[in-house]
Amino acid sequence: MKSMHRELENFQLQKGWEISQDGAGKSTESLLLNHMLLTTEIAEIAEELRRMLNIAYEMKEEGVEGEKAFQLAKEEVAEDIGKEIADSIAYLCKFATFFQRDIEQDIRNKLNEINTRTKPNLQKRMKEEVK
Ligand SMILES: [Mg+2]
Repeated sequence: MKSMHRELENFQLQKGWEISQDGAGKSTESLLLNHMLLTTEIAEIAEELRRMLNIAYEMKEEGVEGEKAFQLAKEEVAEDIGKEIADSIAYLCKFATFFQRDIEQDIRNKLNEINTRTKPNLQKRMKEEVK
């Protein structure tokens, strides 16, 4: 994760796509713009999910068995949804760069926080609900 963050950071710097660190005004404008772009990429993930569900629905209407239709639709969108996930991660990395965050450490800290605050019974109940 660290090396990928560094690679994205260098790429974004080369392109001039980084979040501006040039004073409060420009930084504010740049933060808001990049947040808007991030939410656009997140919405593109939703579009791919919708496309997948539509494909599965149409296949079922044509007589393909439900699980099979779902799997085929999943395969159909996998590459494109991967691109949108990558776009979203690239924007998240911009924010991590701006705030000088170590994403890897932040994720570890977050997982630890979740593990220590979640009661065992709640975890068990959540696992059962997912089934
Ligand atoms: Mg995109």
